[in-house]
Amino acid sequence: MNLPKYQPEPRFSWPNGCKAAAMLCFDVDGETTALSEDPNLVSRITTMSQCSYGPSIGVPRILGLLKHYNVPGTFFIPSWVAEQYPKMTEAIANQGHEIGAHGHLHEKLPTLAPPEEEAILEKSTAILERIVGSRPIGFRAPWFELNPGTPDLLKSHGFLYDASMMSDDVPFIHQNGLVEIPGQWLLEDWEQFAFNADPAWGVIPEDCEKVFQLWWREFEAMRDYGCCFVLTLHPWLSGRPSRVQLLERIIRGLLESGDTWITTGSELARYVLENPTARREIDFEKQ
Ligand code: ZN
Repeated sequence: MNLPKYQPEPRFSWPNGCKAAAMLCFDVDGETTALSEDPNLVSRITTMSQCSYGPSIGVPRILGLLKHYNVPGTFFIPSWVAEQYPKMTEAIANQGHEIGAHGHLHEKLPTLAPPEEEAILEKSTAILERIVGSRPIGFRAPWFELNPGTPDLLKSHGFLYDASMMSDDVPFIHQNGLVEIPGQWLLEDWEQFAFNADPAWGVIPEDCEKVFQLWWREFEAMRDYGCCFVLTLHPWLSGRPSRVQLLERIIRGLLESGDTWITTGSELARYVLENPTARREIDFEKQ
């Protein structure tokens, strides 16, 4: 049988004839993931040391890799981490990468009342601005979970985009004009690599070979569909040597594809706002 292969309509028109876009996100949570769950974990110095491996060892290693291939990253940093590791934060900015807001102590937004959420957004934005020298215009919610009022809160505080929702695989524009750059759990390293004995986090760490297949297969299909590949990595996990080499394989593949726009959140958001016809309509909008 000679069955023609299904050729999907591309979801989006990307610049310079690119078939897909890619945004490499690094959520530099450091110790905040643990401390936001339980402040008493501060005395568990081995658990704390596993967390601090991200900012201390993982980030410089990832920065070296990005510099070698001259590709940009988008680093979402809780402002507590930015304050604890100001040299790391400055190094990320000085290398030309984007820094976005990610709470102060990685607070779960659904646990916050609206005034608390606003106070944390103002505080974290001010701290990042003081250290980096410019205000962040991108936001990733800790644990990816937004409150219903978060998009309006972000818009009223001058944010250009959010990168926390999962309802599409190309960017879209909220009714208030805020750009959304959706992600997905499939393209996250926590599910693949996180493990701590006590307190118990994660599962048995996966083989990088399996994870490469998982992520690369999704990239190839997203490229066929004209999507935006949003990969989210945590330096305390993906800063480990074999996983940096996994990221290197992904970056080399993206570059070798020859038609993937590797970019930052703010560049993506500006492109979406300046090219409103780039996006294809959704056939089945929720009423
Ligand atoms: Zn996070």
